[in-house]
Amino acid sequence: MRADDALRGLGSQAAEAPWYHPTGNEVGRVGQCHANGLAVMLKGPTGCGKTRFIEHMAWKLGRPLVTIPCHDDLAASDLIGRFLIRHNGTVWQDGPLTRAVREGAICYLDEVVEARQDTVVVLHALTDHRRILPIDKTGETVQAAPGFQLVVSYNPGYQRMLKDLKPSTRQRFVAMDLDFPPADIEARIVHRESAVDDAAARGLVALAERIRQLRDRGLAEVPSTRLLVNAGKLMVAGIGPREACQAAIVSPLSDEPSMVAALSDLVEATF
Ligand code: ADP
Repeated sequence: MRADDALRGLGSQAAEAPWYHPTGNEVGRVGQCHANGLAVMLKGPTGCGKTRFIEHMAWKLGRPLVTIPCHDDLAASDLIGRFLIRHNGTVWQDGPLTRAVREGAICYLDEVVEARQDTVVVLHALTDHRRILPIDKTGETVQAAPGFQLVVSYNPGYQRMLKDLKPSTRQRFVAMDLDFPPADIEARIVHRESAVDDAAARGLVALAERIRQLRDRGLAEVPSTRLLVNAGKLMVAGIGPREACQAAIVSPLSDEPSMVAALSDLVEATF
């Protein structure tokens, strides 16, 4: 990802808050953490609304949002910055984390567990009372501007066996558990986000609840709210409910023929 992409949001505030339906007291909690300079870890399955929530919070708190998707090639210099070679010498260019620290933005590291341990370590001095970012290559120590907040997301179920965050890192965050919302709220979200009618939205949620019960019976990932919204959008576009569910829910979840057959049966029992 180019630093420019992460920084697109800096300095601009959308006229309307990105729509987010709370499922508990998460809005108040993150607001309190922000007021107290505390870093936050959003724990929850993929597609449950973590990104939308933090977009909403950034708007509400009046802070720019810098989003950094983490991956295992992400180096500390991708966050902090690097020297660029120009015809007349070298110039320093801040990375997205450094810009966020200087500008008092909310910096959201999505799927932080994907990042290498030596990359994650650069966050440590930002998450305690010092709120500083040391830049070894220039010798500068940047003090976080007021309003800066570090937020990371973490999917506890995903790749738990392969990767995990070090306890020394985890303990630097106030953790907040987010999960798929209760059925009535999830149906409202699907209705609002996809424009599908109420009855179909409730049907999609009922289907998801059935499929989610297969979580420990061979299904690695269960359908997220995002998948239901996608199915709803296909239905609004005129695709029949069964076909829409196949394309947006069944196929993305599994390639394994017996699982696909079981999921298809659930679709047919619902629509
Ligand atoms: P995550 O970051 O957890 O993977 P997202 O925030 O990208 O998930 O959510 C996926 C989609 O689901 C959003 O784009 C939005 O349409 C919908 N969504 C999920 N939860 C909510 C919610 N509580 N309020 C509003 N939209 C939601």
